[in-house]
Amino acid sequence: MVPFEYQTPKSLKEVHQSLKSHGTDAKLIAGGTALVIMMRQRLVRPTCLISLRSLPRMNGITQKDSGIQIGALATHQEVETSSLVRRRIPLLAETYHHVATVRVRNMATVGGGLAHADPNQDPPPSLIALGASVKVTSAEGTRTIPLESFFTDYYETVLKPDEFITEIFVPALPVGSSGAFLKFLPRTADDYATVSAACVITLDKNKKIFKDVRIALGSVGTTAIRAKEAEDLLRGQPVKPEALREAAEKVKLAVDPISDFRGSASYKTEMAGVFARRALEKALQNIRKKTVSKPRPTKKRSVLKKTRTVAKKKSTQAKRKR
Ligand SMILES: Cc1cc2nc3c(=O)[nH]c(=O)nc-3n(C[C@H](O)[C@H](O)[C@H](O)COP(=O)(O)OP(=O)(O)OC[C@H]3O[C@@H](n4cnc5c(N)ncnc54)[C@H](O)[C@@H]3O)c2cc1C
Repeated sequence: MVPFEYQTPKSLKEVHQSLKSHGTDAKLIAGGTALVIMMRQRLVRPTCLISLRSLPRMNGITQKDSGIQIGALATHQEVETSSLVRRRIPLLAETYHHVATVRVRNMATVGGGLAHADPNQDPPPSLIALGASVKVTSAEGTRTIPLESFFTDYYETVLKPDEFITEIFVPALPVGSSGAFLKFLPRTADDYATVSAACVITLDKNKKIFKDVRIALGSVGTTAIRAKEAEDLLRGQPVKPEALREAAEKVKLAVDPISDFRGSASYKTEMAGVFARRALEKALQNIRKKTVSKPRPTKKRSVLKKTRTVAKKKSTQAKRKR
């Protein structure tokens, strides 16, 4: 590693000033799990590291407009284990649980992961399917970017050199919705995905028609990919296995993987179709489970009332006999 200066700014303003004075010689550091490896491999050689870890109130996970707002410094493990996330958007907790190992999840931050923009990462497909956005700041002000248009290429994003992520917003799922994330890991449990698929589906009130569908894939292109043709095909269609099979074929046309040690491009393309279909099936199962487990107090109360009336009648009859 080349020698570097290490700064620990205490406010957003100080970060803006550091970025301005050091320009592209500086690198922000959050969890350090990706950056330190890249520095060791001399892929990047910053002369100044600007740590975000002393910034106050940057790791909160809170409810906002019935969605969830996550500070950029929240770790993967904090999202995975947050009771608010688990209760309101379980797909998010489930996705972060799939990242690497506990050691990595304890350090890696949500903002650092997104800025790193590795197309093999797990969170982007789920966040895109969920319609998430990131809030970024610079000395010029703030802007909100839908995650879907955030990634531009391998390890590239729309972030300008003086901008950084401060928070992520994930909207609440509409009524009648559920999602699923599947990671195909044929090698080791802590590996990056060979293919990953995420979806969020919304059914009509009779649970027979796809009202809305969002599908996104990871590890099959230079960025996470949204499979819009597959979504269009399902929207308005009855929930049937044939529809899912046809959508899987459309997913295969949307992806553009490379051949590497995790599999050939054609194998990954096939797996993208398979895992997208399975993710859709899992999301449908989740909706059905929700319907079955939903408590129905009115019926319970009426059953109770009926039981009481029968018991009362029986005791009156018994008294009369006596
Ligand atoms: C062994 C190992 C296995 C892994 N396996 C997986 C896996 O299976 N799935 C998966 O999804 N990921 C995996 N990861 C990747 C991991 O998700 C990333 O390393 C992590 O998300 C980066 O987060 P960080 O906070 O450590 O970022 P850092 O390393 O601190 O920073 C990464 C990049 O983002 C920039 N940055 C940091 N914070 C911000 C910010 N707020 N705004 C703008 N730019 C910022 C930095 O300048 C740097 O360029 C693995 C990592 C390791 C080390």
